[in-house]
Amino acid sequence: MGNVEKSKENLSKCMCMKCPSYTFACKVKSMPGNMVHMMKGDVSEAEHMEGLFCAFGKSKCITDKKGCVCGECEVYIENNLSDQYYCLDQNGK
Ligand code: SF4
Ligand code: SF4
Repeated sequence: MGNVEKSKENLSKCMCMKCPSYTFACKVKSMPGNMVHMMKGDVSEAEHMEGLFCAFGKSKCITDKKGCVCGECEVYIENNLSDQYYCLDQNGK
């Protein structure tokens, strides 16, 4: 796992919500938890979130490779990331 900062700013740049691998069912499932963390204001304290997977680690819901849009993400570029599918593997695939 790299050192991507768990921040609201990075979360807002994360493209995972627009990714085909992040299924509708997983989005619905993750919404309440993600909302709670966002409302608390400081996501750096969160142990896990269903998003910004390059910082928080793999998803508890996403299971299938259906494409990855990490390469189009600002966080990816800013942190010199080189892998994909951080939702499926702690260190990307
Ligand atoms: S890590 Fe990649 S594959 Fe997984 S949800 Fe984000 S953009 Fe999609
Ligand atoms: S690199 Fe991928 S997992 Fe990380 S913030 Fe961007 S879209 Fe999300």
